Amino acid sequence: MRSHSHGGAVLAALSLAMLPGVAGCAALSSDRTDIVVTTNILGDITSNVLGDEADVSVLMPPNADPHSFGVSAQEAAEMAEAELLIYNGLGLEEGVLHNVEAAAEAGVPTLEVGAAIDPIDYAEGETAGEDDPHFWTDPLRVATAVDAIADAVIDTGGVDEEVVRDNAEDYQSRLEDLHEDLTEQFAAIPSEQRALITNHHVFGYLAERYDFDVIGAVFPSGTTLASPSSSDLQSLTDAIEEAGVGAVFADSSQNDRLAQVLADEADVHVEVISLYSESLTEADGGAPTYLAMARANAEAITAGLTATP
Ligand SMILES: [Zn+2]
Repeated sequence: MRSHSHGGAVLAALSLAMLPGVAGCAALSSDRTDIVVTTNILGDITSNVLGDEADVSVLMPPNADPHSFGVSAQEAAEMAEAELLIYNGLGLEEGVLHNVEAAAEAGVPTLEVGAAIDPIDYAEGETAGEDDPHFWTDPLRVATAVDAIADAVIDTGGVDEEVVRDNAEDYQSRLEDLHEDLTEQFAAIPSEQRALITNHHVFGYLAERYDFDVIGAVFPSGTTLASPSSSDLQSLTDAIEEAGVGAVFADSSQNDRLAQVLADEADVHVEVISLYSESLTEADGGAPTYLAMARANAEAITAGLTATP
């Protein structure tokens, strides 16, 4: 029950807020911890860790490209005022990196989740040897990320530590279930058919965890921002023919024209299959959450690689 004095304090705060010069969003905004997250995948994971403990703002829209999305001036200001700024890092968010750096310089605590998950290098392509930021394709690395996120939000001092730890453990057990389901599902793919050709190099972590070969990518780098040359496409066509793979995986949020060109040029029959590789969808789409996204991709990969040509 709300005490009389508490009610009085609220009234006093309200009348203060209505004074000229004091009125405005800042005076009326809640004193809940405000956490800003760059990508929608990390936004969903962070929301699961926080539950009702803090407000989470996600900058990247649904069905967007994490390599290229940018923020408005208002969002940049929100980043600079956050109590914690969570980003994927390892070079993923090229369009907002300068905003992340500006917020860090302004004193906002930041968490580069990619740095906490034991990153691997790109194994292949023009960016071979550089850190691969696409760690969410491995659910066990996401489980590690959950601990890093929980630690960082607890460090803000504005949340109930016990609640956050419980939420983190609950979500980690769902990630364990996801990992077991994926292991079981991928077991249906014969080892010689475990070959991935993707739009760009997005499934390195999944390949390592579940024993796939990354044969190549339409965009020969770790980013969607570089274009393939015709000789890149030719060598990929050769690789497809040599490996005899039946499917090329494109991203649902990006143009699959080049993947289609590739499929048409290869002498073997290749299906172009759309995956939710690096963005969630709207709530009514096929990948509204990270868990739904990972399951939808595993189903599509398994169907694509076990289909009889
Ligand atoms: Zn990517």
